[in-house]
Amino acid sequence: MLNFTLKERFLRYVLIDTQSDPASLTFPSTEKQKDLGIVLVKELHAIGITDAEIDEFGYVYATIPENTEKSNVPVIFFCSHMDTSPDCSGSGVKPIVHQNYRGEDLLLPDDPSQIIKLAEHPDLKNQIGNDVITASGTTLLGADNKAGLAEIMDACYQLVNHPEIKHGKIRILFTPDEEIGRGVDKVDIKKLGAYAGYTIDGESAGNMENETFSADGARLIIKGISAHPGFAKGKMESAIKIAGEIIAALPFELSPEGTDGMQGFVHPVSVSGHVESAEIDFIIRDFDENKLTAHANTIRGIAVEVLKNYPGSSCELQVKPQYRNMKAMLDNHPEIVMYGMEAIKRACLDAKLCSIRGGTDGSRLSFMGLPCPNIFAGEHAFHGKQEWVSVQDMQKAVETILHLCMIWEERG
Ligand SMILES: [Zn+2]
Repeated sequence: MLNFTLKERFLRYVLIDTQSDPASLTFPSTEKQKDLGIVLVKELHAIGITDAEIDEFGYVYATIPENTEKSNVPVIFFCSHMDTSPDCSGSGVKPIVHQNYRGEDLLLPDDPSQIIKLAEHPDLKNQIGNDVITASGTTLLGADNKAGLAEIMDACYQLVNHPEIKHGKIRILFTPDEEIGRGVDKVDIKKLGAYAGYTIDGESAGNMENETFSADGARLIIKGISAHPGFAKGKMESAIKIAGEIIAALPFELSPEGTDGMQGFVHPVSVSGHVESAEIDFIIRDFDENKLTAHANTIRGIAVEVLKNYPGSSCELQVKPQYRNMKAMLDNHPEIVMYGMEAIKRACLDAKLCSIRGGTDGSRLSFMGLPCPNIFAGEHAFHGKQEWVSVQDMQKAVETILHLCMIWEERG
């Protein structure tokens, strides 16, 4: 018997370690992600979704055939990612269900220093009476994005078992390696064969996100002048010290720690080098794509200024696009977000349109021709040991998915 409740599904998935690894050169980056993919395929088969499959890269695809008489209902898909963040251990997760939450601080038993405080997690105020699930203090929980997986899986179960819910063809996509920015590298868009979709990977119940950052990566390569340190007077220009000066001159008001809301930033993520040459890797982020160039020019300007004191040295900034704000694509198909907002309202929630200070699988899918906003999964404080989600918020996400299927059918 493989028919589980929503909560049971979630509690099963978080036990499977699916941490991705940015240093890996394979795809998926870690083979263990397939362990979860195989479980999901088995469960989909048990639900009666016979075409469910996992491919060589670890992607899971499945179809719920249409049950509507209408012939022009667009194919939509729902997407969640199977991997968890490399920032925090996902091995040996021990989920704890805090039944009927009463507003207290939640103590995580395996590490007394880990306390989820109401004062630091204001969204917990909306969880009074709910069943809040946390990890035990030494690992992340993995609600990002196993909450989304459980919700989509439960919605599949409901759709198959409630033929009175009319819908067009629904495609399911579960991706590996989202957390390391490779989630859609090997996705087969043709095979997915959909008009639009929704990632189920957002935070608070009721939220929908139609904007992500636009993102570039940049590498500043500094060439200095090497000399024997005993005889370097007046000759040596250390690339390491040039790199240090450039980093120190980056404006605070353009840093991750100095910005929020709709502000962008420039962020050095790694430095390497020796006397003769050094490299600084940056990520550049802004909601306004046009500002990315200005931010790159800020780095260039600082480098030029610093190099004035190093006449024999030089530098070069190489900029590579990473992903773009999906809003540009979604604005061409306003019904996709509109139906999402309506589905959230039909699930009796306050629908709120938000932006993410980051990217999603959907931001890249949107530019591959598959417009794909993000809908809440209920996951909170992700990528850390204090991650939590409530069963009731997950239930609302399932309802939202079902309403979305019905709305697309109604309007078809
Ligand atoms: Zn996620």
